[in-house]
Amino acid sequence: MDRKKKHIMAVGAHIGDAELTCGKTLAVHSLLGDAVTTVAVTAGERGAPPGRDTAEFAAYNKKCAEEFIGALGGNFICLGYPDGEAPDNEELRRRLCDVIRAEKPDVILTHWQNSLHKDHSVTSRAVEDAVFYAALRDFERESPPHWAEGPYYAENWEDSHGFVPYIFIDVSAGYDLWFEHIQKLWLTNNSPWFKYRDYYDALSRSRGVLIHKERAECFAVSPYSMKLVKDSF
Ligand SMILES: [Zn+2]
Repeated sequence: MDRKKKHIMAVGAHIGDAELTCGKTLAVHSLLGDAVTTVAVTAGERGAPPGRDTAEFAAYNKKCAEEFIGALGGNFICLGYPDGEAPDNEELRRRLCDVIRAEKPDVILTHWQNSLHKDHSVTSRAVEDAVFYAALRDFERESPPHWAEGPYYAENWEDSHGFVPYIFIDVSAGYDLWFEHIQKLWLTNNSPWFKYRDYYDALSRSRGVLIHKERAECFAVSPYSMKLVKDSF
């Protein structure tokens, strides 16, 4: 039976967030022939190493993000807010709503609600509201309403407070594709502050062991979605 093609969209606060936390899942869907999109609210330019110009670093980071998702056959969208200043306002929610309506993803992935980084928690709240707005009839925007599943919340070490892994995606098939192309991101190998690649590489192995697979990526769901329905015990 033919499988219906899907479109998976991962929204991160900074370039690197979506690629590192959801990248293996995106790679799996790419290999299935699905559409994949990464969205960054900011270019993450304040993560530039000392002495590097932030405007130049923003452009470089965007090129890295385009190359990563390009290798998976997908598209990258940067909303271009200043790093560290993702606004917790209606404008961001409406811009994300417009992206969802224009791109028509089937599934949306983003940050968990609690984070040590303000841009992450703002992005999580804004994406939740944007998914709601996008589906609303009579919410007048340029594009017509679109309902997307989610958001599902990615496992990010910066967003760990209260994160409960609920969905385990077997990403074994996408691991090699991810590992090859995640190297395109500056953050992966070069950050003096955190070994991002090592962490997300090891995390996928340890999550994989829990489901008896080589590799897994985990996602949390809204507590309101946690219903296990049975006819009887
Ligand atoms: Zn981030």
